[in-house]
Amino acid sequence: MVFSCENSGCKIGIMGGTFDPIHLGHLVLAEEIRYQFGLDKIIFVPVGTPPHKGQDNISDKMLRYDMTRLACMTNPHFEVSKIEIESEAISYTINTIKKIKALVHSEHVEMFFITGADAIMSIESWKDYEELLSLCSFIGATRPGIHVEHLEEKIEHLKAHYGAKIYLTHIPGLAISSTDIRNRIREGRSIKYLLPESVEQFILDNHLYL
Ligand code: NAP
Repeated sequence: MVFSCENSGCKIGIMGGTFDPIHLGHLVLAEEIRYQFGLDKIIFVPVGTPPHKGQDNISDKMLRYDMTRLACMTNPHFEVSKIEIESEAISYTINTIKKIKALVHSEHVEMFFITGADAIMSIESWKDYEELLSLCSFIGATRPGIHVEHLEEKIEHLKAHYGAKIYLTHIPGLAISSTDIRNRIREGRSIKYLLPESVEQFILDNHLYL
């Protein structure tokens, strides 16, 4: 990671996800959140070894990292971290946040962990979640069609019990999903315009998701 905070009061978004594959919904979301929250940088962190599921059903971590890098190449505010990819350990978010905090040379950095709203709803099952909630704010992205009432109740509970800072963001572009893209490839349907052309070409070249 090359980023370091030059000014005090630096704000960084950490975009955590499997990214199998990364698509335009993720990119639109990250760029919109960067603007809405006034973030200096978004660091994409592809999951290495996911805490809640086995490695069997997901693509090789280096392939997911390469696709994420290709997707982020044209945005100077985006960076991709190998922090979880390089480690053989289970990818616990608490460890990732601590490592990134140590790498960014500023006392005053404010961190926002961005991911799907569903993941945030199960945060009380995450490793050291109380400490994690004190280390960074969370931004949960909802998709079209998701009912937010339960999410809002859960967020109120997390705020009241742990003083958590959690925001929900609804991004229309998230109608695109990695699952749908993988299904389309399996069924021989087009994935054009759902993800950057460089990532589409990478998927074709490496015969992924067939
Ligand atoms: P996932 O399986 O990749 O995603 C779950 C859902 O959220 C999918 O609908 C996915 O859509 C969406 N999503 C994923 N990343 C997103 C992002 N950055 N922005 C918007 N939507 C996103 O991921 P997960 O297993 O739920 O994990 C999400 C993050 O939480 C990861 O960074 C993971 O390490 C972390 N986590 C940590 C712990 C822990 O520390 N114990 C436990 C669970 C999760 P797409 O399929 O379209 O991407």
